Amino acid sequence: MLAGGAGTGLLRRLGIAVDAKDYRRAALVTVVALDRAHRGTAWERFAPEGPLALLPLPDSPAGEPRAAVVWTLEPARAEALAAAPEESFLAALGQAFGHRAGRFRSLLAPRGRWPLGLQLAREQVRSRLAVVGNAAHALHPVAGQGFNLALRNAARLAAAVAESEDPGDLGCLEGYLDEALPDQRRVLALSDSLPSLFALTGAAPTLLRGFALAALDLAPPLRRGFARLGSGLPGPVVPLAP
Ligand SMILES: Cc1cc2nc3c(=O)[nH]c(=O)nc-3n(C[C@H](O)[C@H](O)[C@H](O)COP(=O)(O)OP(=O)(O)OC[C@H]3O[C@@H](n4cnc5c(N)ncnc54)[C@H](O)[C@@H]3O)c2cc1C
Repeated sequence: MLAGGAGTGLLRRLGIAVDAKDYRRAALVTVVALDRAHRGTAWERFAPEGPLALLPLPDSPAGEPRAAVVWTLEPARAEALAAAPEESFLAALGQAFGHRAGRFRSLLAPRGRWPLGLQLAREQVRSRLAVVGNAAHALHPVAGQGFNLALRNAARLAAAVAESEDPGDLGCLEGYLDEALPDQRRVLALSDSLPSLFALTGAAPTLLRGFALAALDLAPPLRRGFARLGSGLPGPVVPLAP
């Protein structure tokens, strides 16, 4: 099993080609304390530079409400904000996110940065080899689906191997990949299209996005369908009855 993550050079050493795209963005990640309870709500704000997500975490041992920040930025700005004094960082975050979730009181974790790119290995199985997780498919964190996708594929692989008399047999591994690949392509396409869709400026795209978001707000079946799509689940996405 090859599970070394994206960009390690292991695939190249095995002669495995990848389809890759550099988003020219970095994700700045940290944990902040909020001045009021988040009630388990996750937020994502779409800006032309990229999405900014605020994800609820259990309260700190001191009882402060906490949230993880995943902020997509141009690499130079991510670097500057990662090095900025805490107060300036929190002020910039407040300006970018607004105060729907309360005020950002303090930083509770170091600020980390990840370069963002898409990667899909063109060859994921060979006799006695399966490439899994980010090594096989790395994606934009906009929909928070990379790890979920890796877990679904790990479960598929485990089921295929458990059913086979020879777990490393190429036929068994190809059977696994036949199931895994459509899921990978669907999630990669979604995570690749969302940031570009929200980066479009101008009156028409803004109006269309406004309508689409209002429709999601007003129509629970549509919202459930979108959530299914975002979770990488197949099938008809908009049931007719609530
Ligand atoms: C900013 C950000 C936010 C994200 N948010 C979400 C989210 O909300 N939900 C979600 O589902 N996913 C999310 N993801 C995606 C998630 O992080 C990845 O899908 C997941 O980490 C992939 O796990 P992995 O084990 O395949 O790779 P990695 O996490 O990269 O782990 C690979 C491991 O292999 C080790 N390794 C490398 N080479 C070797 C070697 N030769 N020998 C032994 N070990 C080796 C590395 O040291 C590393 O520990 C996010 C990603 C980013 C960047």
